[in-house]
Amino acid sequence: MSVKPGPMGGPLLTVGSVALDSVRTPFGEVEEELGGAASYASVAASFFTAARLVAVVGEDFPERHVAKLGERGVDLRGLRREAGKTFRWGGYYEYDLNQAHTTFTELNVFESFRPELPESYRQTPYVFLANIEPRLQLSVLDQVRRPKLVACDTMNYWIERAPDRVREVLARSDIALMNDAEARQLCGQSNLLAAAREILNSGPGVVVIKKGEHGAIMLSQDSYFAAPGYPLEEVRDPTGAGDTFAGGLMGYLARCGETDDAALRRAIICGTVMASFAVEDFSLGRLLRLTHEEIAERYHEIVTMTRFESL
Ligand code: AMP
Repeated sequence: MSVKPGPMGGPLLTVGSVALDSVRTPFGEVEEELGGAASYASVAASFFTAARLVAVVGEDFPERHVAKLGERGVDLRGLRREAGKTFRWGGYYEYDLNQAHTTFTELNVFESFRPELPESYRQTPYVFLANIEPRLQLSVLDQVRRPKLVACDTMNYWIERAPDRVREVLARSDIALMNDAEARQLCGQSNLLAAAREILNSGPGVVVIKKGEHGAIMLSQDSYFAAPGYPLEEVRDPTGAGDTFAGGLMGYLARCGETDDAALRRAIICGTVMASFAVEDFSLGRLLRLTHEEIAERYHEIVTMTRFESL
């Protein structure tokens, strides 16, 4: 895998939730651990490119969590600390780890957050609108100057509460990411490919649908690609897999500076690899212990595993 900086590459700006997550799976439980879509995505991206974060936390957000993001070199000038409580999410998984059950979502400081990008962030060429209220995603998009590539993600919580704004975000993005259930829900359509096609026709040039342990598909006007999930025999906590996938994918594109079909396919495999590590432990535990060698090794394994000859 080549992760050399490309001639046109550059930093990646991510806006999204930074959270305190309380999660239970059949393999363990954590309380108020570091989570949030933007935390997973930025840490994953930091293995490929300079990662910039825009989010808000409350006065109660532990400094040790900020330090974890800092250790990965994530640029935290856009992380605001405001009066009030940090965003909290609680969820659990049963034996089917593909299905997250939300027990609570407390927006807290995100309720009144109006992101204002530091001047130094406004020229960022790559933007990832990670899962958060679509109004905040749009506000970030309004403030960046002519980005080279914009990707967005969302989830059922926002599709139910603000479907029109979710669609507006999709229409203004180059790459739309979402999981299978969310694509079906947004389009009221049970066939995944038909749902992906409908999303594609609403604006973004590329649609990527994540299917949990079953991998991901990518659809553009002239190409279709299916990536397998990396076969893992031990998954402890799938929380953040989708965000990590997106961070790996966008981080790689930001690093290589290309956006052609071949680059997009490599990016999807980078996303797959990063997500496969994220689920091996709770919170960001495994990502924070990860090495570039491990990433390259797993990428190579997927290349080998999916290779087959023509008839
Ligand atoms: P994923 O497992 O990739 O869907 O992402 C789970 C992460 O998303 C958790 O770390 C949560 O803190 C965060 N999250 C859950 N619900 C929301 C929401 N409504 N808006 C933003 N982030 C959320």
